[in-house]
Amino acid sequence: MTQDIDHLLHEVFGYQQFKLLQREIIENILAHRDTLMIMPTGGGKSLCYQLPALVFPGITVVVSPLISLMKDQVDALNELGIPAIYLNSSLSYDEHRANLDRIRKGEVRLVYIAPEGLLVPATLAFLAASAKVDCLAIDEAHCISEWGHDFRPEYRQLVQVRQKFPQAVCVALTATATPRVRLDIKNSLGFQDADEFITSFNRENLFLEVLPKKNPTAQVIRFLRNFPEQSGIIYCFSRQQVDDLAVDLAEAGFSVRPYHAGLNAEQRQQNQEAFIHDDVQIMIATIAFGMGINKPNVRFVIHYDLPKSLEGYYQEIGRAGRDGLPSHCLLLYSYADTKKQLHFIDQKDEPERSAARMHLRALTDMAETSACRRAPLLAHFGETYTVENCAMCDNCRGQQGNQEDVTIPAQKFISCVKRTGERYGATYITHVLMGILDEKVQQRGHQSLSTFGIGTELSRKEWLSLARLLVQRGLLTQETEFRVLKLSPAAYEWLKSKQPLLASLRRAPAREAEAEPRESEVPGAPDYDHELFERLRRKRKQLADASRLPPFIIFSDKTLVEMAAYFPQSMNSLEQINGIGQVKLAHYGQAFLDVLLPYCQERKLVDRARLDRRGARVLTKPGKVRRYIEVGRAYQNGRSIPELMADYDVKQSTILSHLYQFILAGNSLLGGEKFQALSCLTAQQQERVLSAFHQYGTATLRPIFDALNAEIGFDELNLLRLHYLINNQHGSKV
Ligand code: ADP
Ligand code: ZN
Repeated sequence: MTQDIDHLLHEVFGYQQFKLLQREIIENILAHRDTLMIMPTGGGKSLCYQLPALVFPGITVVVSPLISLMKDQVDALNELGIPAIYLNSSLSYDEHRANLDRIRKGEVRLVYIAPEGLLVPATLAFLAASAKVDCLAIDEAHCISEWGHDFRPEYRQLVQVRQKFPQAVCVALTATATPRVRLDIKNSLGFQDADEFITSFNRENLFLEVLPKKNPTAQVIRFLRNFPEQSGIIYCFSRQQVDDLAVDLAEAGFSVRPYHAGLNAEQRQQNQEAFIHDDVQIMIATIAFGMGINKPNVRFVIHYDLPKSLEGYYQEIGRAGRDGLPSHCLLLYSYADTKKQLHFIDQKDEPERSAARMHLRALTDMAETSACRRAPLLAHFGETYTVENCAMCDNCRGQQGNQEDVTIPAQKFISCVKRTGERYGATYITHVLMGILDEKVQQRGHQSLSTFGIGTELSRKEWLSLARLLVQRGLLTQETEFRVLKLSPAAYEWLKSKQPLLASLRRAPAREAEAEPRESEVPGAPDYDHELFERLRRKRKQLADASRLPPFIIFSDKTLVEMAAYFPQSMNSLEQINGIGQVKLAHYGQAFLDVLLPYCQERKLVDRARLDRRGARVLTKPGKVRRYIEVGRAYQNGRSIPELMADYDVKQSTILSHLYQFILAGNSLLGGEKFQALSCLTAQQQERVLSAFHQYGTATLRPIFDALNAEIGFDELNLLRLHYLINNQHGSKV
């Protein structure tokens, strides 16, 4: 069975591994146990009933409250080659009949339907007579509860549907976590002893920022300049504000549409479609917009005005980054806005007034905190957030204590830009610094530069983040088209001034030490070729328009980002990319290869998809292969240390410690002299270190460090310890 679901995940959905709890939930459903699933937006709930639907012999009926969502889901399933249909009022009589026919003939696996539709006695009778219903999935299950934010009375009657299909397992899904709602769901659906699966509500990929609201339109424009062509939503308090801002931004040259209850249904529909189809970049909206939008590539959400509550804020920012890629949430905050909200609250009666005050206060507390913003946000959902530095909010990023002296790496970086002739982008410079001997480096002979391979102290991500910092601080300039870096006059001044440069390049320091990017959930996308991404995006848009689908139904941004990072150049390689299953491969593979092949060949980009993706696949199989074993094996197979640093995006010392563990676990390695070659010590110093190992053993480094009068750092000791161990592999005292 496990075999089956893994197979379906890879072949049909094209994913490498399950997200958190997906496997457990799917196994639970397949064991016919009623299941309540509570996960934040983007958690991957749909797959949890869609995959079992392929295993069950009968059909899966999915109750979904919104027509637009049904259509997207069904389109997406059909693109995967899964026969699914919906039954709702948007269908013509003939279409409806045809769909019923397909059910009768047993041609479909999933049927989406609105609750009121399902409750129609004729529909129920039809389903009971013509199909075997194995699973009843209730999406947006919080609609069942009067305590939820979106109560729908029809949902209350769904228990009758259960009685009609007593053999069907029932699955309820929601992103609303309050215990009250949770209990309501279980009671209303008549769950006897349902299993509950709840994941954290922390959305790791959302960057949270609050800025004092000063000149909001100018602030928004400045913000938007960082997101050219990227989708986003700007929430305003009133219809008037929406319209005004839409005019201002359109005048400033942005692609925007308004959305609020003052527009007629057709205009709203049109504007929403334009946004979903990537024909329009930015939606300016009141909170009327968002329900029923599952556009996964919303890269930013701006609150131009203060939301009413922390819960509302969480809901609205939740529309960003469903695809798991980093997304930015900006709240413009002013006391005047708070007062405006309080003014409205004062017009309410008790007890609503006190409750509304409390909700607003929870929000302003979050906006005013100087500590991590995730702590109050998650506390509101009953979660304790213990990570010291989330690295994904303004307060954690800007934390002084977290800054370190990056003067030396900055000098190295700038000097490498200079020495390579100010002709390359950050990724290439990073390769040279890290000593990655790829084709381009070889062609250009940059391995003989003095800056080749001197950048072992930072990981690839850290080098790239240093590059961004140097641009931000005006030391380097970056040309927009090819992202070429050049020194600015300020760089020469700074180099002369010997001023220290402070910054925090690392994400949460405690987590970085482990260097275990868990599943695909780590915030931060792989570094990718932006120009190639744009070309792939254009191809996607073309294909989407041709078949009148939203682009994200063809491939997610994440899938395109992976293509632009791993440069797949054959059908086989494409198959390794996340989100490309068999049917999509057959359908769209060639069209994307037509973009990838010429681009990569022209630039001599090596196909890394198979190597890296396969590596990643082994690496993330839960509890299968430990990281150090993998690193050790890769090293045995000829991967160099700089290559391993790039593969895992970690510092040299992390790789060294993996290799050390590998040896401790009884494996042998060759090539001790390689470690010696990485050392910066003189031959004489090395001799002293090696004899210290001989004397004190290698189990801990501290005694060696002390014995050498603290003259030699731990990085060096780590290096030479490996050299020593490899050369004394038999009968040494470890
Ligand atoms: P939810 O309904 O919980 O908001 P979705 O079901 O829309 O979440 O899934 C969010 C995103 O994650 C979608 O783009 C989906 O394709 C993707 N996804 C789901 N499962 C996986 C997986 N196992 N690996 C990679 N991506 C996944
Ligand atoms: Zn934080």
